[in-house]
Amino acid sequence: MQNKEDYRALEARYYMPAFSRELMLVRGEGSRVWDADGKEYIDCVAGIAVCSTGHCHPAVTRAICEQAKRLIHCSNLYYVPGQAELAQKLVEKTGMAKAFFSNSGAEATDGALKLARVRTGRKKFVAFTHGFHGRTIGSLAVTHKPAIREPFEPLGIARTFVEYGDLDGLRRAVDADTAGVIVEPIQGEAGVIIPPDSFFEGIREICDESGALMIVDEVQTGMGRTGKWLAVQHTGVKPDIVMLAKGIASGFPMGALLARGGLEFRKGEHGSTFAGGPLACAAGLATFGVIEEVLPSVPEKGERFRAALSQYSPRVRGLMVGITVGDRCAEVQKRCAEKGVLVNCAADGNLRLVPPLVITPAEIDRACTVLKDALG
Ligand SMILES: *Cc1c(COP(=O)(O)O)cnc(C)c1O
Repeated sequence: MQNKEDYRALEARYYMPAFSRELMLVRGEGSRVWDADGKEYIDCVAGIAVCSTGHCHPAVTRAICEQAKRLIHCSNLYYVPGQAELAQKLVEKTGMAKAFFSNSGAEATDGALKLARVRTGRKKFVAFTHGFHGRTIGSLAVTHKPAIREPFEPLGIARTFVEYGDLDGLRRAVDADTAGVIVEPIQGEAGVIIPPDSFFEGIREICDESGALMIVDEVQTGMGRTGKWLAVQHTGVKPDIVMLAKGIASGFPMGALLARGGLEFRKGEHGSTFAGGPLACAAGLATFGVIEEVLPSVPEKGERFRAALSQYSPRVRGLMVGITVGDRCAEVQKRCAEKGVLVNCAADGNLRLVPPLVITPAEIDRACTVLKDALG
């Protein structure tokens, strides 16, 4: 491993500068990561809500290594080891009927848009302000943030944005050609924005009246992040289509589409070379087992964050924590890193904490002490 300055120069020369970054992490274990200088951090970013089982969980690492010795890839021309088993587990925990795998969250969104169009025969979508659904052409079309979307317009999908939480606006926006309404149960990239349950009951009602499908993006909130397998399970509402990705396979690239009975792709309607391959499914199955074990502890861990940070009025659901910091957000992020805690600024000066679900109470306490110190 070269030193960080050499590496920075190498990147500047050969890698497209789409990211701004400071640290170089080289190793992880549980909720700890180490940088190239050997400095240790408590990781409340977890690869942006991806490493829910912690870094290099032994069960996940073992599953990947063992599968890599047996069969790395075979394509979807053949039955794929682990694929149907993982589909069964996800479907059973979420109350949906069938699954279809992808390689990322954005691809899961694209799949959801395709499924909604092909099964409803309708064309249009309604999405919400501050929502994030991915950066492919299709998923970007339903992503709100103008700064990342507008340079790429036109995106070729008829879509209306409605204010997040505004049911009257939604009612006006949905019509007889609306294929689906796409919504995050909690807006993650926007900074952990939690609407009332009645918002989802209202969306369900409007979808039922109009025949549009309710598409719930659980890419960030799913897989136990909020203390249930899906965040929408905190409400009584059952969606038509759900997307998963981030936490699904502990960092092995994977996404999934889940749909209720009667909603499925038919022969030839969708596909992917890599998606739901043997390695991803092995990682996903091992991840599922770890999450199943740790899930009961997630709500109390979230409450531990809430109690420790109460003076900052945090928004908390399970291990998804948002704090409005404002202009100082980047500075707070930097000060936390200096003191050995990784946190991340989401949109609009909102600090976001999405640590591994396996984080310990002692690690939570340490992270909160550092964070409070940085917040002042
Ligand atoms: C991260 C995210 C996506 C996009 O996932 P990628 O794997 O980066 O394509 C989509 N929706 C939500 C809610 C996300 O948080």
